Amino acid sequence: MNPQQKINALRDELREHNYNYYVLDNPTISDYDFDMKLKELQALEETHPEFHDPNSPTLRVGGEVTKNFETIPHTYRMYSLDNSYSKEDLEDWEKRIKKLVDGEIEYTCELKYDGASMSLTYEDGKLLRAVTRGDGFQGDNVTTNVKTINSVPLQLKGNYPPLFEIRGEIILPFDGFNKMNEERIAAGEEPYRNPRNTASGSLKLQDSSEVAKRPLECLLYSIKGERLGITTQFENLEKAREWGFKVPAEARLAKSIDEVLEYVNYWDVHRHDLPYETDGVVIKVNNLQQQEELGHTSKAPRWAMAYKFKAEQVSTVLKEITYQVGRTGAITPVANLEPVELAGTIVKRASLHNADQIAKLDIREGDTVYVEKGGEIIPKIMGVDLSKRKVGSSPTQYITQCPECATDLIRKEGEAQHYCPNVEGCPPQIAGRIQHYISRKAMDIEGLGGETVVLLVENKLIENYADLYELTQEQIIPLERMAEKSAENLVLGIEASKKIPFERVLFALGIRYVGETVAKKLARHYKSIDALMAASEEDLVAIDEIGDRIAESVISFFSSEENVTLVNRLKEHGVQLEISEEERANQTDTLQGKTFVVSGVFEKVSRNELKKLIENNGGKVSGSISGKTSFVVAGDNMGPSKRTKAESLGVPIISEDDFLAMIS
Ligand code: AMP
Ligand code: ZN
Repeated sequence: MNPQQKINALRDELREHNYNYYVLDNPTISDYDFDMKLKELQALEETHPEFHDPNSPTLRVGGEVTKNFETIPHTYRMYSLDNSYSKEDLEDWEKRIKKLVDGEIEYTCELKYDGASMSLTYEDGKLLRAVTRGDGFQGDNVTTNVKTINSVPLQLKGNYPPLFEIRGEIILPFDGFNKMNEERIAAGEEPYRNPRNTASGSLKLQDSSEVAKRPLECLLYSIKGERLGITTQFENLEKAREWGFKVPAEARLAKSIDEVLEYVNYWDVHRHDLPYETDGVVIKVNNLQQQEELGHTSKAPRWAMAYKFKAEQVSTVLKEITYQVGRTGAITPVANLEPVELAGTIVKRASLHNADQIAKLDIREGDTVYVEKGGEIIPKIMGVDLSKRKVGSSPTQYITQCPECATDLIRKEGEAQHYCPNVEGCPPQIAGRIQHYISRKAMDIEGLGGETVVLLVENKLIENYADLYELTQEQIIPLERMAEKSAENLVLGIEASKKIPFERVLFALGIRYVGETVAKKLARHYKSIDALMAASEEDLVAIDEIGDRIAESVISFFSSEENVTLVNRLKEHGVQLEISEEERANQTDTLQGKTFVVSGVFEKVSRNELKKLIENNGGKVSGSISGKTSFVVAGDNMGPSKRTKAESLGVPIISEDDFLAMIS
């Protein structure tokens, strides 16, 4: 064998062992022998760099460092799932979908893995990229990190399609999670809170060799692509398994909701025997043609439903109630608990929401309380064990003054939250607004973290986000934990933020109720901050999906002189306060006021490109046909029930070419 043949033979052999070990859980050689072969391959690759392969098994150990994860749009949007909690919920769902599709409906039941969603793209059997779910439309390219996960195949087996995407969940099994925590505790570090957050946090580590050390796994559940020749979800799972993916064997077919419930009830009990966390079951319409006909709402597929298991509860002692002040001045009471294990993790704090909640449950310091963990990170207090209440305990007196600046708190009509009205002078509010401004989804300022903001505010170097642009290295260097290099990076990071597009700047300003999506909408509509500032409340509410609450908040924001000064200062510093020429060029109003439904498979553009074209030209994309639909753009394989519906409502059905002609 020449060196190239030897290298290839070793790569194939190691790949197979890797598969046996991590996907099948059935190793056929000892760890020692595996390591020896890996070392042999490493040595050969070093002496023969000409045979480099980015998917070689030796690269599982990582080493590449990513400073900035590139944002990548998803070819197929990554949806969320609707939730159900009871038999009735499932029966209602079945009724709804039976109205929309013809024929018998069969379901696949799968476990709902609790981790971080992931989209993997394979081209010619090789892993091309791995992208996080992000906001569903775009995510982060974390390929270098995902490559280190042993159950993710780098080279597929069998008869796979030339190009496809596969969706799955990156999880951290309990065993591995506990081992990581033992090591952390031994090193005097805080243990990680739960497997899910640790898994998703791992994906964003900069050093991939750190990721390689974590016992992550990737469990797959769906394949997306054009002309794959697959007709059911169950077949999806089988195919993925054949190609070398780890697809848990627990999935079952069910012919009725009763059979679905049998599955649910079984796993509600047996989930505790699984090596990883599951918070429910995902039920999917098995037939892909029926799925296509059912389509999606704006958030989730109509053809799938998550069934959430009832959360686990434990009781523990509430040691103290403390209060946090957010960036909007909202006060959040926090329960500090005697640490307790809950669903495999240690819980120390729980949110108490607001004064009403405390009063309603009559929660007092020293009480023994029931704590429950639902989907969210911070567990909830569900009630008090009154039998354990100490004599002489008195009801909780909610604070009346801000714990940070001693200003009297206010509570607006109809709102549950108390607020500190000292917007300009309350330190956590000042820092909070700047922290929001620099956050990842806003200006994403590299080299500047939340703690540094607090430090800068405490040292009176900044009071607002416009001040950031006047910071100098000389001012920063003397601060605690700052060195010349970090000060330089900070200033460079701030400078770089001047390139962030207008829609994100608008989000960064921190106008109440103007989240990412609303900011996008307003930026698209007004195209510049000046136009937005000139808009009246009536102008604003005339925009689709902008309601009174948002409109009022925008008007109120710009009616403050301080805010106008801030905006003007940002403008002077060169922050993007209007959309770019390029964005302008790609956006037209040709389809203004028209609503489109897209159905089927297309020749010239992908479904997603088609949707983007509609939106960029001012049109609206909707998931289902109604009297308000202007056109249905139909490709191959358009669902028959959609066609009937369009015809009965007299909605014109146009082809891809008709559509392209419309915008050209
Ligand atoms: P949620 O984030 O609660 O809306 O739930 C949707 C998420 O569930 C998806 O984005 C997936 O990441 C995750 N999920 C876990 N297991 C499955 C499964 N078997 N099928 C589909 N989605 C799943
Ligand atoms: Zn305050």
